[in-house]
Amino acid sequence: MRATVIHAPHDIRVQEVPDPGIQQPTDVVLRVLRACICGSDLWAYRGESARRSGQRIGHEFLGVVEEVGPGVNGFAVGDLAVAPFVWSDGTCTYCAEGLTTSCPEGGFWGSVGPDGAQSDGGQGEAVRVPHADGTLVKLPAAAASDDRLLTALLALSDVLGTGHHAAVGAGVAPGGTVAVVGDGAAALAAVRELTRGEGAHSVIEAVGTEQSMRTALGIVRDGGSIGYVGVPHGSATGVDLGVMFGRNIALRGGVAPVRTYIPELLPDVLDGTIDPSPVFDRSIGLDEVPVGYKEMDERTALKVLITP
Ligand SMILES: [Zn+2]
Repeated sequence: MRATVIHAPHDIRVQEVPDPGIQQPTDVVLRVLRACICGSDLWAYRGESARRSGQRIGHEFLGVVEEVGPGVNGFAVGDLAVAPFVWSDGTCTYCAEGLTTSCPEGGFWGSVGPDGAQSDGGQGEAVRVPHADGTLVKLPAAAASDDRLLTALLALSDVLGTGHHAAVGAGVAPGGTVAVVGDGAAALAAVRELTRGEGAHSVIEAVGTEQSMRTALGIVRDGGSIGYVGVPHGSATGVDLGVMFGRNIALRGGVAPVRTYIPELLPDVLDGTIDPSPVFDRSIGLDEVPVGYKEMDERTALKVLITP
């Protein structure tokens, strides 16, 4: 099969790799219908987060079950399912508490898993999914023929759940003010003006740089909360405990346990209450993935959808 492999910073290739197969009884093989490129994939692309040469890449995908291991109970061949951006067993104490990202049996797509096996990345034709019962979430079969809905459902694998996690961490509540710190120019003054100089009750920090955390601290009101989900990179964090202490500011967040949020968010995506599909502003085939990385890196595309 063909899959995306990172060889070095700025060196992404789509190449032939071995077909995935059942290795553990709890595995399924999923044929990928939709995948995408994430802002956090760009850190590897830019060489700001380390990857081994030859490693698979991509952590957002959905597709159809093609093979089922003898230890899988919840899925059958032909089922449509979405994968969260890490796999998890669904049975350990962390998974039971909803913190699937801390599952000791879990792993990040494209990395070497706890069992020592190289895992598949999502930007390819198919993926071996470990611990399928604890990882995948089944989708209505009818969605497979609805292009816009499939695109919207793909956002469940990372960005929608991550945004939700930030909102939970920031204590977003009805009637409160919310500010989002994204990857653009800082507008401290504007937020202060809009909030009678007080700042926002809830601030979502979605970048992970020292500058973005300082911006978040600068626009949150006293007694407010910051929900942080930007993958921290760079040495300094921008977190000033003295300031937070003096102003009673809460900081909560981290890598989002999206597997826990998918069942909650799925009905809203299915009935259109939430439609995240517009976040994808570019659609490509698998062979164009290197171009997709280049365009997101150069900011001529925001988020690239892949149809293998
Ligand atoms: Zn677990």
